[in-house]
Amino acid sequence: MDIFDRLRQRIVTKADLQYILTTDDNVFLSTLREQAQQVAQSIYGTHVFIRGLIEISSYCKNDCLYCGLRRSNHMAVRYRLSEDDIYSSCEKGHKLGFRTFVMQGGEDAWFNDERLSRIISNIRQQYPDSAITLSLGERSRESYQLLFEAGANRYLLRHETADGKHYAQLHPAEMSFDHRMQSLHNLKEIGYQVGCGFMVGSPGQTVDTLLSDLQFILSLQPQMVGIGPFVATQHTPFASKPSGSVEHTLRLLSVIRLLQPHVLLPATTALGTLHPQGRELGILHGANVIMPNLSPLTHRKDYNIYDNKICTGDEAAEALANINRSLQAIGYKTVVDRGDYK
Ligand code: SAH
Repeated sequence: MDIFDRLRQRIVTKADLQYILTTDDNVFLSTLREQAQQVAQSIYGTHVFIRGLIEISSYCKNDCLYCGLRRSNHMAVRYRLSEDDIYSSCEKGHKLGFRTFVMQGGEDAWFNDERLSRIISNIRQQYPDSAITLSLGERSRESYQLLFEAGANRYLLRHETADGKHYAQLHPAEMSFDHRMQSLHNLKEIGYQVGCGFMVGSPGQTVDTLLSDLQFILSLQPQMVGIGPFVATQHTPFASKPSGSVEHTLRLLSVIRLLQPHVLLPATTALGTLHPQGRELGILHGANVIMPNLSPLTHRKDYNIYDNKICTGDEAAEALANINRSLQAIGYKTVVDRGDYK
């Protein structure tokens, strides 16, 4: 049995992971990439699902050490979108063929259950053919339940690391690893399609913590997994740490695809930020989702979770045309589809 047999059987060992991350055997690496791509294509073809990302608030009550939106960052520009901004982002996106809207933001109490429920049910009524995804951090179980009943379908909450000690290196003491894990389980029980995930190369990450991440994914069985390189960000405690590796991210995308063949796997913006062809490379390593930005241009530059985040200044239409052009060049195309888990 070789590494590929083990991955197909959903077995991942420390020695295998260590090898995958460190080898420079190009034959092995192209086999890894090709197998991941083949597995993705056997389920999703050469279709790439698009999700329209709407960054609703840059206010955050949390103080995650890696994030540019942490509350202690007094250099961060804070904004929140109005309800009308959100609706017009959806309208623009729907016309362009987006059938998933992702509302993401810092943990901002202004977006309480009442406001969010109203926004979600309005979008739900207006676009019954579209999925509504939330990425708004940790909330109470009751809140998740209300938002689900209002019409949200999916929730992205990266676990960030499945190792409690590592979690404590990335977050202030007031934030709880157990609460984050409990939140993911609550979301799943309520009936959301759930996405977890982590940054690659975050300070303190080791082969052991990554192994825990992969094992956690195998046990949670999420519908989505978001991974991208850690990007060192100014005005955060990790400003002078080295950023994560694009190469490691690509290898891990392939590993996750082989371990979880059906998973919805985005080629993330962080990957595109650290490498000009990052998103295309992600697709070629087994990813099948891209999340272009639908936020209004006036606020887009202020959602700085990390430095130099792709912010082309392109209108969504232009950005989508660019994505389609570069995907076509590698034999893929975006589709007008909710892009549900198969
Ligand atoms: N507040 C929401 C959304 C967070 S932003 C939440 O808690 O889920 C989405 C993701 O961006 C985070 O989960 C984190 O993994 C990633 N992120 C934050 N800072 C980053 C950085 N400096 N480099 C790379 N990714 C980062």
